[in-house]
Amino acid sequence: MPYDVTSHCPACSQGDEFVIGLWPKHLGVHVCGGCRAVVNVPLETGACRCGARPAAAEFYDYAYSIPYFSGQSAELEPGRDCPKCRGAKLTFQTTTHFNVGRLGATEDGQRPWIGKDYLEKAIFAFALIAVCSELDLDPKEMLGYYNLDVPASLIASRRLSLPIFLDIRNHVTAAVMAGEATFTVSEKLHRTTNEECGELLRLLQPQSPRKAWWQFWK
Ligand SMILES: [Zn+2]
Ligand SMILES: [Zn+2]
Repeated sequence: MPYDVTSHCPACSQGDEFVIGLWPKHLGVHVCGGCRAVVNVPLETGACRCGARPAAAEFYDYAYSIPYFSGQSAELEPGRDCPKCRGAKLTFQTTTHFNVGRLGATEDGQRPWIGKDYLEKAIFAFALIAVCSELDLDPKEMLGYYNLDVPASLIASRRLSLPIFLDIRNHVTAAVMAGEATFTVSEKLHRTTNEECGELLRLLQPQSPRKAWWQFWK
C-alpha cells in the first residue's frame, strides 16, 4: 500500500507531492527537468505530463532518501538537486499511507506490468524478497500472491526502502491476523503476528464473560 510523499527544497522552499509504492500504476518517481518537478510517471503511458519518456535508468531511486514517516533512525541520503532552482538537494517527508487493498490484485485480472522492468516494481520486489527472508516465506509464492514477476535487470543494484519493506510486512501480518492469508504461513510469521498483534487480537475477540451488545458502547 502506497504512501504520499512531499519534497522540500531548503533553498527555494518549494516542493511537490508524489506517491511511492504504487507499482501497478506507476513506473516510478521522476525528477523531471522539463516540468521542473518531482512526478510519478504512469505505467499506462510511460510518459511524464510534459511528454518526456524517461528511460528505466533515469528514474529516481528513492530507497535511501525517503523516510518511514519521521521514525527512521538510519541515516538518509540527500535527495536529487531541486528541479525548480537547482540551489540545494531535496529532502522528503512521508505524509500519508493509503490503502488500495492488495497490490497487484486487479478486478479485471489484467496485469499490464508483467514482463516490464521498471524501478517502482523493482523496489517493491526487492523489499518483498527481504520480507520473505525475514519471515521465512516462500518468495515464489509471495510473488504469485502479488501477481508479480521479478524485474530481473533491476534487482541486483537495489537497496531496501524502509517504508516499502514495513508496508509489505504489515500487510502480510494483517492478512494472517484477519484470517485472510492465501499464502503458506510460516512458523515465524505465526509467531511474529502473535507477538505483534496478540494484544489487538485479544481486544477484537473478547473472552468470556461476554459483554452484552450494549456494553460495547460504553
Ligand atoms: Zn529549490
Ligand atoms: Zn515532465
